[in-house]
Amino acid sequence: MSQQFQVKGTKSTYIIYDKVLGKGAYGVVLLAQDINFGNQLAAKIISKKSLSQIDIVNLRNEINIQSNLYHPNIVTMIDAFEDNEYLYMLLEYCNGGCLFTKIQLSGPLREDKAYKYFIQIVQAVQYLHQKNVLHRDIKLSNLLINQEDQIKLADFTWSTSLQMGYVAPQICGTLEYMPPEVIQNGFQNEKLDIWSLGIVLYEMLHNDFPQNGLIFIRNGISKECKSLMKQMLEVDTYKRPSTSEVLSSQWVKKFQRNNGLIVNTCRSLSGLTDKLGSPRKIPLLGSPLGSPLRTVIGSPFGSPITSPLNTSQQKCFGSKNVAKQILSTHKLS
Ligand code: ADP
Repeated sequence: MSQQFQVKGTKSTYIIYDKVLGKGAYGVVLLAQDINFGNQLAAKIISKKSLSQIDIVNLRNEINIQSNLYHPNIVTMIDAFEDNEYLYMLLEYCNGGCLFTKIQLSGPLREDKAYKYFIQIVQAVQYLHQKNVLHRDIKLSNLLINQEDQIKLADFTWSTSLQMGYVAPQICGTLEYMPPEVIQNGFQNEKLDIWSLGIVLYEMLHNDFPQNGLIFIRNGISKECKSLMKQMLEVDTYKRPSTSEVLSSQWVKKFQRNNGLIVNTCRSLSGLTDKLGSPRKIPLLGSPLGSPLRTVIGSPFGSPITSPLNTSQQKCFGSKNVAKQILSTHKLS
């Protein structure tokens, strides 16, 4: 971390380093540090020059919504402010990358590992829905992982508030994760996030998307899991479960029972040794690791759709260059 500069926010002063954490649709995300507390943060920095009116609306929306969210599985927005050239969002830092990269590197997840992540994702979305907020772009690359291997839902660019139980139809999000009612620009409510959650669960287990609308589920996946995925990928939004229904599904209950069993077994066997004096092995529950069905998918982050996002993405070329540009406009220290 050779270059850095300081910015004064509304709550503290921050050091911004030239270490690029990622590139977004609007700008670059750099490593930062709170000067008072010393903790590491992620700074999403957006050049105001390149923003259209619709971009500004999206960003204001993101800041308004995200700065009022406090949940263990949602990235906390620590501060948001601007100077003449840039808009800054200081975010809780997640140093474990995103679920997309994890699955690209390790292949499909075992069902028990997928459960562990999925339950956290659904709890985050349940919290949003209880606050009448829809995320509208739930996908593996927006699911970050922190040091404790905990999921943090990120990127509230497309999030919106429900008005009288529904939102004005808008084609937004990422094509592969979009439910039919969004693609058809029809009636939209919180069930649109449930469809995306169904795709996320499918993708975690297959490292692939359902092809041509066919939900082909690989061998070794439990019948409870298959049934839940099919319910979440139900075209009829009335039949699609709510987050509470997902959390009380047979699949979730089965894992809760099994986890209870592991905890109880651990307790009852702790301290026991076999005849040779070595500790007894506790059998692991869960399905064996599935073989990767594919290595690469068409577009690494899915294909974002609609013009606002696409135009902004075109503007944000070369995150290293953007980082350099940001650093050069500040007096480097
Ligand atoms: P945009 O909304 O502009 O698309 P994102 O919020 O998706 O931007 O961030 C782009 C990338 O930056 C992410 O894919 C991730 O790699 C990285 N990133 C974003 N937020 C954080 C964070 N809080 N901690 C670590 N990396 C992050």
